[in-house]
Amino acid sequence: METIVSSFHSSHFKNLEEVKNNHYMNTCFDNDDEKELPAAEKSLLQKIVRTGLITSKYDIEIQRRNPNSPLYSVKSFELLKLHPNLLKGVYEMGYNAPSKIQETALPLLLANPPQNLIAQSQSGTGKTAAFVLAMLSRVNPDLQYPQVICLSPTYELAIQTGEVAARMSTYCPNIKLRYAVRGEDVVMGSKLEEQIIVGTPGKVLDWVTKYKFFDPKKINVFVLDEADIMVDTQGHQDQSFRIRKLLPNTCQMMFFSATYGEDVMSFANAIAPLSVIIRLKREEETLDNISQYYVTCSTKEDKYNALVNIYGGITIGQAMIFCHTKKMALWLVKQMSEQGHAVSLLSGELTVQQRISVLDRFREGKEKVLITTNVMSRGIDIEQVTIVINFDLPLTVSRQPDFETYLHRIGRTGRFGKKGIAINLITGETDLRLLRLIEEHFSKTIKCLNTENVDDMEKLGADE
Ligand code: ADP
Repeated sequence: METIVSSFHSSHFKNLEEVKNNHYMNTCFDNDDEKELPAAEKSLLQKIVRTGLITSKYDIEIQRRNPNSPLYSVKSFELLKLHPNLLKGVYEMGYNAPSKIQETALPLLLANPPQNLIAQSQSGTGKTAAFVLAMLSRVNPDLQYPQVICLSPTYELAIQTGEVAARMSTYCPNIKLRYAVRGEDVVMGSKLEEQIIVGTPGKVLDWVTKYKFFDPKKINVFVLDEADIMVDTQGHQDQSFRIRKLLPNTCQMMFFSATYGEDVMSFANAIAPLSVIIRLKREEETLDNISQYYVTCSTKEDKYNALVNIYGGITIGQAMIFCHTKKMALWLVKQMSEQGHAVSLLSGELTVQQRISVLDRFREGKEKVLITTNVMSRGIDIEQVTIVINFDLPLTVSRQPDFETYLHRIGRTGRFGKKGIAINLITGETDLRLLRLIEEHFSKTIKCLNTENVDDMEKLGADE
């Protein structure tokens, strides 16, 4: 992972990479494979493995609270009249045109007088880039004091945002950023000179109230990012709100969230009253573009043979294979590796750094098969997965079909309008009954596949 601290006070973060690595290496997870990743970790991993924008077929929905809000959308960054050096940075990052959420949010965020905004869209749609651009545009580089606060729920997410800001402001050498995160210290009695503070709520609150390192009355942009993660973290809402109360009435509030629940919205309205609310509706997971199959097997060895037939029968791009237990996943890794397949394993006991490395290698295609338990079935988008195999059906603790997990697992394939294949390997009557319940639940046929049959395998190939 790249660390860019170019135009910012790198002296404060000389050992950023080192700090990050140490932190990652020290962050171990519990061994329970079935436990979901904490939301903040998931969001971080997503940001790290993502290569580009997620596009959605669905439209922006706008609720206008302020009749004077500019609600036009821009199709190019030029139309936003950004500072030329900022525009240069944006293009250099490979952004040719604004994403859907940026089209609508940016004219609002950059308008004068400033408008409050609450924006919700799934992760990967360009929210961070939108508010970072707005933050950088609002800064007066000639004034040496904090003018912008951006709150993130964790150390790592704050660093991610800072890195986007650093890249975007490559040609704005006078704009400086300071991280207000654990491990960052300021000399007592001094005043900060950086224009942008990116940090976690507790640390920022301390810096403003306890140590008075800067004057909150001079802040003109307040960004709250990953608000849905904040609401889940003890104390974050309260700390954010206490910071917010110290800011001038004229301060522009920008509130970003990937979800739109009631708790998030009441937090949003407390932080950013009288906002325009924009939502990019989530692409519905209809499973329409996924061909679903099942293969009847008698033993796990039989399942393995089916897998080998599938794998040999079609030119698979990349596959994800889900097992119910870590033991089964390990067994499968061993079998496949012994047969010379390049497989990787993603399981619960890896450190964050190891997970990132596994996902990165898979995304780069170094391994074609990723074997995993449920840990990773949610949230992580890897675009090129063409086939998902349920080596075991996902079950709840009461051994009923776990529909939600099924949807999330097979939703790994056929993303972004591409076609995908999902294959369930089942044994015995019970599995068949569970499979029928899954069919019924989603109102989608799951076709029988005989992996020994050439015609069947040809049909499967045609689905690719
Ligand atoms: P979010 O904050 O909604 O999760 P990000 O702002 O992190 O989304 O953007 C997701 C990915 O898309 C990042 O890799 C980012 O660099 C890239 N990206 C953002 N805006 C654009 C754009 N206008 N054009 C191309 N890529 C973009």
